[in-house]
Amino acid sequence: MYYQVLSDEARVVHPSQARKNAFAAHHLEIRMFHGGHGECILVVFPDNNCWLVDCGQGTGDRSNETLAANVVTYLERNGLHLDAIIPTHPHSDHAKAFTTILADPSPNITSPLTIYRSNDPGWSASDKKWLVPYRSAAASRGVDNVLEDKRIKVSIAPDILAQLFAGSSGKRFYISIFLQIQFHGARILFTGDAYKSYERGLRDRFGTEFFRADVLKITHHGSEHGTDEGVLRDILPGIAIASTGQGGGHRLEAETRDHIKAGGPRVRVFETFRDQNQQENKRDIILTTDGLPINGAGILYRVRQVAPEFGD
Ligand SMILES: [Zn+2]
Repeated sequence: MYYQVLSDEARVVHPSQARKNAFAAHHLEIRMFHGGHGECILVVFPDNNCWLVDCGQGTGDRSNETLAANVVTYLERNGLHLDAIIPTHPHSDHAKAFTTILADPSPNITSPLTIYRSNDPGWSASDKKWLVPYRSAAASRGVDNVLEDKRIKVSIAPDILAQLFAGSSGKRFYISIFLQIQFHGARILFTGDAYKSYERGLRDRFGTEFFRADVLKITHHGSEHGTDEGVLRDILPGIAIASTGQGGGHRLEAETRDHIKAGGPRVRVFETFRDQNQQENKRDIILTTDGLPINGAGILYRVRQVAPEFGD
């Protein structure tokens, strides 16, 4: 389905065949893999270079090694080249699979590999066993860019800009790195896991322009601890996407959905998991955009929900 995305709404549109062809030839793709309990989002730029925003599934060694192997196979099969990784915060369901990815000799992974991360104290915690091999893999294969109470701008291509920002490690919970991607007129915001107070703090510190987005990656799998109403009014997303999974703690909770839907009936919400009992409701979300207006306003996006690439 194609959407014309304006502030707080996504209208279904039917682009001409010529526009569809141009769109297919040059677009940015966000692929949110169904991760069970975890997140793994590939941002594929038009030149087939890509960034990986989080990569983790649960806490187990096996599940994370399998996810990492699947991602590397996916890169190789699709001719993609991984240039940077963003473990948003030091939790295994977001970062553990990076240990295996960092150690993979695949030519489809840049060496050394750029890492953007926050200065969450958890990164150096001595009581998290899984971080020991992560830290050694990152030290041998990665170039660590640590953001503490800081925003940086990374030019990915002449028409693509990334704004990365993170708060201070003085706060207690989830010092997640946030990422806003700009591609022509398109704006997409990635939020890791965050509490409302952290979202407000970042917005106040760095300014609403880096929060405004057509597409919001909902924080914290939809937990009501995140997605502040006031911050949402600065983001004004027309489309919201969430990595959700079976069981508690990884669900789009009612309060979060209500806040997002408060923008109006045309705010579209997509999840990777919809129903606890039905296998067929596990989906990958593929969102693409050419960053250009349609019918003279908004930006054209396409959203597809497909069978999970990796299963779980
Ligand atoms: Zn999480």
